[in-house]
Amino acid sequence: MSVLLNHSSQWRRVTTVGWATLATLVCMAGSAIYAILYYLNDAEVTAGQAVIASLILPVFIGTPIYYVMFRRIRMLAFRNLRLEAKNRRDGLTKCLNKMAFHREVLRFLSGERRSAALLIIDADHFKQINDTYGHDIGDEAIKMIAQKLRAAVRRRDPIGRIGGEEFAILLCDADLKIAQSVAERIREAVNLSDVPGVPTDARLSVSVGGTVFGDGGSFAEIFRSADKRLYSAKADGRNCVVIDDFVEMRRAA
Ligand code: GH3
Ligand code: MG
Ligand code: MG
Repeated sequence: MSVLLNHSSQWRRVTTVGWATLATLVCMAGSAIYAILYYLNDAEVTAGQAVIASLILPVFIGTPIYYVMFRRIRMLAFRNLRLEAKNRRDGLTKCLNKMAFHREVLRFLSGERRSAALLIIDADHFKQINDTYGHDIGDEAIKMIAQKLRAAVRRRDPIGRIGGEEFAILLCDADLKIAQSVAERIREAVNLSDVPGVPTDARLSVSVGGTVFGDGGSFAEIFRSADKRLYSAKADGRNCVVIDDFVEMRRAA
């Protein structure tokens, strides 16, 4: 379980334990001073007894309290982490929610820049699916799309649900060729899949817009560019993929 601890919670744990240790040492020093003063004023107490009273007793009393405290801090840290992880995910699809996905993209952009692609995937005519088969079946269709996205990418590529029937993927270390083949794989997988409750001849489809970026492009520019390609895919008749190379486009402009 401890591998789940991120740096900040590990640091928090270390500092909490540090403060508890410091507090114990301060108590021990305090009781030692008190015992010495007591010894100096009372000839019947030996120096050995004073040391035992000041050091051994606090350790015996303090250790179980310290242990219970330590376990409680650790449990709270795990609970905190689990909550943090849950808050990052969308309840229906378990993909990252919009905010968490944006954070992943920003993290990627602030690191050492490598070629990557942003894909935006939007279900086609989804309102009709809801209107014809009902909202619950619409939800099943959204879950199916999320499954197909997960199956098409590597584990380290973040997938976000950024709108009701709209998803985004950050393909790390991808060039135009890779981005096109992943997007096409997604489009085909969704279009070939059945959704329980939807007749097999009423095929669900998605349109994919994407942009490939290297060391150029800000967060807003990259999203705007991918969004534009999504509009082109919708305008081209839907159930298709349109991806451009952001760096090439900027160079040409
Ligand atoms: P287009 O091909 O242009 O994208 O058409 P569209 O119908 O998919 O787009 P539009 O934006 O008009 O409708 C999106 C629909 O998605 C409307 C909304 O009811 C539905 N939707 C959004 N979130 C959910 C959800 O969580 N569950 C279900 N079942 N439907 C949802
Ligand atoms: Mg749609
Ligand atoms: Mg949409």
